[in-house]
Amino acid sequence: MDLCTIKGTKILSKYKLKPSVSVMIELPEAVAFSKQINETLVGKKIRHALKGQNPHKFAFPEKGTKQLGAEYSDEDFARILTGKSITKSWSSGNVILVEMDTDYLLSLGCGGEKIVYHETERTIPKKHQLLLTFEDDTFLSVTISGWGEVRLLKTEDLERHPHIGYDKIDPLSAEFTFEAFERLIEEIGENRKRNAKRFFISEPGFRGIGNGVIQDIFFLARIHPRREMRSLSKEERRLLYETTRIELQKMVDLGGRDSEKDLFDTWGGYKRRLHGKVVDEPCPVCETPIVKEQFGGGSIYFCPSCQKVE
Ligand SMILES: [Zn+2]
Repeated sequence: MDLCTIKGTKILSKYKLKPSVSVMIELPEAVAFSKQINETLVGKKIRHALKGQNPHKFAFPEKGTKQLGAEYSDEDFARILTGKSITKSWSSGNVILVEMDTDYLLSLGCGGEKIVYHETERTIPKKHQLLLTFEDDTFLSVTISGWGEVRLLKTEDLERHPHIGYDKIDPLSAEFTFEAFERLIEEIGENRKRNAKRFFISEPGFRGIGNGVIQDIFFLARIHPRREMRSLSKEERRLLYETTRIELQKMVDLGGRDSEKDLFDTWGGYKRRLHGKVVDEPCPVCETPIVKEQFGGGSIYFCPSCQKVE
């Protein structure tokens, strides 16, 4: 799992709670949010920042800890952000970064979060974890479901951000070549087990990849989520690599998956093939009913005929 999912899951089990989130912001949605923030919010000046209107247990950083940004109280948030303008946004994995006057960053995403731009106060949700009011009487609200980031940090501290996953490859970067992919498979070691799901989301894992986007990637590459990575033939490795690149790029180009809403509260344009609503429905390729199982901390969906375990 990505870093904030690992932390989120730990907190939920500490409080003996079941995750209420079925969908999460992953790489494609983070890219889409940053693009929309650049197009819509850059240049807007913050008149007022309200954090903690509805305190959320699973907002990162956790209060009272030594985590980066935990030193800022709700009052600090208001004081630091007031008068600042949004200068740019970018994403890294599933973390959305919003730069304020170049010296501070607001870190969002990294979980289940609604980040919505409002042209009028009528659409602002009753409960939220952050509300920015801009000088032109428009707004940005952030509401966490499950867990997510509402973190303030100094731009110079970005390399200390705990949830970006600097040690993981960004699967859409030039660095992620087929050779790099094969090297990661070889690094698993002769006698070690490493199924496809675990390989993609945690060991080694790819930046911003979680249990959501892998479902369609594995389906299209005809790889079962439980499949041992080392057992993949050269052709299977090639197909899985290319499918990963192509489908992730499609998800980005279409503004995220249709399970997630964007900055304008609109569903993403990428139509998922495998998800909760197609369980027991015929596979679009071979008509075998689609199966759902719990595996590796979350649901997996697959076609038992197209995606063989061995
Ligand atoms: Zn099938």
